[in-house]
Formats: sequence, C-alpha cells, structure tokens
Amino acid sequence: MQTVEYSEFSEVLHERFQGRRSPVEVSIEMTRRCPLDCLHCYNNLPMGDQEARKQEMSLAEHCALLDELVAAGCMWILYSGGEIFARKDFLEIYTEAKKRGFLITLFTNGILINERIADHLAKYPPFSIEITMYGATRETYEALTQVRGSFDRCMRAIDLLLARKLPLKLKTVPTSINQHEVYEMKRFSETRGVEFKFDPLVNPRIDCSQSPLAVRLSPEEAVALEFYDTRRKDDYRRLAKEDLATGAKTITGESTRYFCGGGVNGCAIDPTGTMTICVISHQQGYNIREGSFREGWEGPIREIRAQKKTRPTICDRCQIQSLCSMCPANGELENGDAESPVEFLCQVAHLRAYALGFAVPEHGDCPSCTNPAQHSALQESAQRIQAQVGDSREWLERKAPPLLNILQTSNTGAACHSCSSH
Ligand code: SF4
Ligand code: SF4
Repeated sequence: MQTVEYSEFSEVLHERFQGRRSPVEVSIEMTRRCPLDCLHCYNNLPMGDQEARKQEMSLAEHCALLDELVAAGCMWILYSGGEIFARKDFLEIYTEAKKRGFLITLFTNGILINERIADHLAKYPPFSIEITMYGATRETYEALTQVRGSFDRCMRAIDLLLARKLPLKLKTVPTSINQHEVYEMKRFSETRGVEFKFDPLVNPRIDCSQSPLAVRLSPEEAVALEFYDTRRKDDYRRLAKEDLATGAKTITGESTRYFCGGGVNGCAIDPTGTMTICVISHQQGYNIREGSFREGWEGPIREIRAQKKTRPTICDRCQIQSLCSMCPANGELENGDAESPVEFLCQVAHLRAYALGFAVPEHGDCPSCTNPAQHSALQESAQRIQAQVGDSREWLERKAPPLLNILQTSNTGAACHSCSSH
C-alpha cells in the first residue's frame, strides 16, 4: 500500500474540494453537560441536568448520523461538548466513528479520562486529542473551574495520554483569573513535547448570559498577552502588511453574510440534533431528527449560507480584517445580530494594528477610529504594549507580569438582543 504524509493528503483533499460545497469537516457537540463549572464557559450545563440529558441524541441516532456523514463525503469529525466523556456511551459512539474511517479530533478537559478510556483511545487512536488547561497551578486552575480536585485529574489525564503516545495537544483560554500562568502552561507543554495554543477571546454564553465577560481580558490585556509571543506578533505583522497592501479587498465585501467555510465545507450538530453553520452560530438551524443530514445540508444550511447582507457596516471597507475575529456567529452571540460588529473584537483588532505601528485607514464611522476618547485610549494602550512587552522569556521569568497588574480596563459586552424576553 502506498503511504503519504498527512500534510500532502490534506492538501490534495482540500484542492479537490476547492470551489465545491461538501461537508468534509463536521463538528458534533455530544452534550452540554460537564463536571466542571468554568467561569468563562459559553455553553456548559451541570452533569445532573436531566432535562438536557433526555434531549441528547441517542447512540442509535449518532450511528445513523455517522452513516449519513460517510455518504455525504465527510472526512473529519470533531467531537466536543460540554465534556464529551460526560456521556457514558461516548466511547461506543467514538468507536463506531473510528470503524467508519473518519479522522477524529477530540476536545476534552480531560478530567474524566481514566486508564480504561486511555487504553481504549490507544487501541483506536484519534487523529488528535486536545485538552484545555485552566491554569498551571492547582490554585489558579480550580479558581476558574470551581471544582476541587480537578487540577490533579487533568494532570493525570495528560500523563495517561502521553504514556500511550497519543497525539495530544494542550491549549488554554486566558482570562483575568489565569492570564499570569499562560506562559507557564506553554512551558509545561513544551517540556513534554506537546503543542500549545491559546485564544484570549472569551464569548458570551449561547443562552444569552453575559456572565463569561466578567473574566474576559480587556483588549489591552489580550493583545499584551499575545504579543509576548514574538512569533505570534510577527504573524500579525505579516497579516496586517498583506491586508493594508491589498487595500479594501474585504472578506465582508462579499455580498453574502457568511464569508467563511461554515456551511460550505462543514457544519455543526448540537447535542439535540440541530444542524448549524458552526458551533458558535445558533440563531438559524435545522434539526436532523425532523428529516436527515442530507436534507439539512442541501436545504436550510445551503440557504442560511447564501443569505445576503442586509446593510452596509463599518467592516465593509475595513483594511485590518485579518487581525479581527468579527464574523456573523460572533455578532449573533454578542449582539444578537449577525451583521452588527462586535465592539470588543473591533477594539482588539485596532489595538493589534496600533501596537504593531500601523495606522488604520478610514472605513466609516468606526468608534475605534472616530470616537476621540476610544481612539486615544487605544493609542495609549498600544504605547504601553510597545514599551513594556518584550520577548516571551521575560514573561516566563515573572510571577505576575507588572504590565497586567496595572491594567484595569473594564470589559463591557453588548447585551444580547436575540432573546430579550428571557
Ligand atoms: S476591526 Fe472593526 S471594522 Fe474591522 S472587521 Fe473588525 S469589527 Fe469590522
Ligand atoms: S465562528 Fe464565524 S468564522 Fe467561524 S465558522 Fe462560525 S461563522 Fe464562520
């Protein structure tokens, strides 16, 4: 049998599907239930939530879905939660997916992983397994998860998976609780030969609660943290140069509301069978229990993906879009409106540009550019980041970064209007 490197295989496949609409990557949320109660989480429910449990797709429904995904040409499956192992039958579902030949990524907090689960994963290895860490120390980790003993259980999971040489990756979500340990977590990962990543952009909850925003980093904290990593900073510099050199090419210059791969090369299915563009987007969907995956993909999901923009926004002519995470799903989650720019994301993107020394060309009535108080606050933040952020080694030598101790910018998330009657 001829063997090829994974990168070559992936490249060939993506080329083959370029320009074609096909669900090659599907994210499946197993459950929203989770044994942890993280302050920043956007979708978790208590383990004992019987109502949520009753509504979850059954083992038989998952197997039928897998058969449909094979027929639809899906290659990659991401299983996420909640916590995937909160479902006692998860390994059965996973094994069925493995037997059908999918490349499977697992997102987990690890705390339910024991020897039996690790042995099973060693027998049927995933393509990748990603554990989210919440701190480098017990004190910080458990301040965020609010569950005593969870740090030791996470460490045990990491040891069990590494002992079996499983393809583990570690990651974190920096918050006001654990930001000072992000680079300690990175060092922890690197000393174990494990890839590490972090994303400092916390979302509101999908049930419209703004509670995670209480621990969200300010734009200055988020960008300062990112720029301690010189490679990451260089990546942003390259993206900004490309964006500014090509002018207002604009992702959002397209006439459709969505501009990403959601609904084109993939989609998401939530624990109750509702199919959406992606795991973050929930305002519009279709339940496969009322028909089939194929009907959803060919009907409602195609229509949602093809929806036209209804109005111009400040994003249309923005030339730093590559520095920005604004997208319809984030608009929905934070503003209850897919087309309404998220102010927090807008500020983060402008700050990235300013801290790199770039001016942002005029693009309409953007508060980050035209509101004098906001603009000068961002410029001052940029100067502090430029003056104090050095190589990430400096960070590692500090227990609590002085820069982050003095930052008190408040996190104000816009209220969600999608279900104001709740
Ligand atoms: S930086 Fe602001 S204007 Fe530009 S894409 Fe992001 S949200 Fe839109
Ligand atoms: S989060 Fe935004 S960019 Fe990502 S798939 Fe969903 S809609 Fe697209």
